[in-house]
Amino acid sequence: MRKILTWFLAFTWELPQTLFALVLMVFLKTTPLDHRKRIRLVHSNSYLTCFSLGEFIFFRWNDIGAWDWEETQMHELGHSVQSRILGPFYLPLVALPSVIWNAMSRMDNRTGRWMAANYYRTPWEHLADVLGKVAR
Ligand SMILES: [Zn+2]
Repeated sequence: MRKILTWFLAFTWELPQTLFALVLMVFLKTTPLDHRKRIRLVHSNSYLTCFSLGEFIFFRWNDIGAWDWEETQMHELGHSVQSRILGPFYLPLVALPSVIWNAMSRMDNRTGRWMAANYYRTPWEHLADVLGKVAR
C-alpha cells in the first residue's frame, strides 16, 4: 500500500520532477543501483554530481564508496523528502537554487572564494541535511 501511495504521489504531486527524472534517465543512460529507500541510479556524466528528483536519486559511478558516500546518500534522501513536502514547488525552490549554487561553488574552487565552505549552509541544502539526518 505504501509503494502504491509513493508512486501515486510521484505521478501527481511530484509530477514535474518525476517527468524530468524520467527524461534524464534516458539521456544519461542510468543504471539502477539499489532500491532500499528510494530509487537510486548511477550515470557516467562526469560534470553532473549527485542530485535528487522526486523518488529518483542520481549518483556518479565515482561517488560510490567515496569518503563521504554515506553522508551524500543521506543528504540526497533529504532532498527526496523535500520533494515530497514541496511537490511542484521543489524545482523552483530547491532544485534551481541548488543547481545555481553548485555551479557558483565550482567556480569558487578555482578562485578560492568563500562559497564552497558554505555550500551546505544555504536553507535548501541545510534542510536536506536535517531531513536526511546528516550531521556536518
Ligand atoms: Zn543538496
